[in-house]
Amino acid sequence: MSSTRPSSEPLVTLDGSRGEGGGQILRTALTLSLLTGRPFRVSKIRANRDKPGLRPQHKAAVDAAAMLGRAEVLGCEVGSRDLVFRPGRVEPRDLTIDIGTAGATGMVLQTLHLPLAMRSETARRLTLIGGTFNPKAPPFPFLDRTWRAHLANLGLPVALAMPAAGFYPRGGGRLEAWIEPASPKPWVRTTRGDLTRVRGVAGSANLPDHVAERMRDRALARLADAGLNVDVDIETAAWPSIGQGAAISLAAEHAGTPPATFVGVGERGKPAERVADEAVDELLGFLGVPDAAVDHHSADQILLPLALAEGRSIYTVSAVTEHLRTNALTIRAFLDRPIEVEEPLAEDQPGRVVVG
Ligand code: ATP
Repeated sequence: MSSTRPSSEPLVTLDGSRGEGGGQILRTALTLSLLTGRPFRVSKIRANRDKPGLRPQHKAAVDAAAMLGRAEVLGCEVGSRDLVFRPGRVEPRDLTIDIGTAGATGMVLQTLHLPLAMRSETARRLTLIGGTFNPKAPPFPFLDRTWRAHLANLGLPVALAMPAAGFYPRGGGRLEAWIEPASPKPWVRTTRGDLTRVRGVAGSANLPDHVAERMRDRALARLADAGLNVDVDIETAAWPSIGQGAAISLAAEHAGTPPATFVGVGERGKPAERVADEAVDELLGFLGVPDAAVDHHSADQILLPLALAEGRSIYTVSAVTEHLRTNALTIRAFLDRPIEVEEPLAEDQPGRVVVG
């Protein structure tokens, strides 16, 4: 049995400016440090971002990970670019974390999910308060439809709810997660079945109805022009929120693989039509790579559970992103596991990930 005292093992050292150079290096390291008991040091945190160093959502993730793992932490202030994390024994519990800004709740969820699932003997509830629709982070509809479906395939059941939406700048969104105790299983999927339908939600909070309607109508028109031979259903929603915001999610459903959800997030001054175009463009890009089993966002997110599963996993991806390559590097720093990321041979060909 591991000791409750923080680990005195040698530090895993990570360069936070490598590859993508964003917060994912830190988040993956926190998860793996809790699960392996290995302490780490990360320098040049988020060196490739406009505001480098820890932002409030990263600090929230570090604080929560430290509480769960009884860790000793150095350098956990907003703005810090260098952090040392020495975990003790993980003691799972229900948690409520208020990020305090519109920082992404989904990122904090993804940091804590595996330690809660893999180290707990009972279901745990995680309540996160902050942003639920952040550009460049997994938005709620993606987590609920796509991430959750991938996790279910890997034997990791999670239930999610969004009682309130959170947008920049006010935040205040609420994401609730119920995480079942479980360990990941390997997964092999190198093809995709036929497209069966596209389902979407055009939603807004405290904005006139026409915003959601215009996003819906634009997405319907663009998808009709693209000649998709399947039903396309897009509903409108009015989300409760303390702030204002809008987003559209479009999920491409294929036989035999989890739905791939693409989300456009509104901003002040960005026309509703452009928000819809962003989601449609991503969806059409995915459909343009027929043999990809996994969309390019899920590709980097499922790598971590698969690297912890016993047995070989193989999956094809619609694009090999810097996030995917960087996550593979971070995982290899902690786990003695061969991970190969193979580049696509042509634009309409998938890339491939092999976890040996
Ligand atoms: P920050 O540095 O501000 O924390 P970030 O830049 O840390 O943000 P990244 O390191 O860029 O975060 O990681 C972003 C994560 O969010 C990646 O796992 C990526 O796949 C995921 N992601 C980004 N956009 C989307 C999206 N539209 N849908 C789903 N997942 C997304």
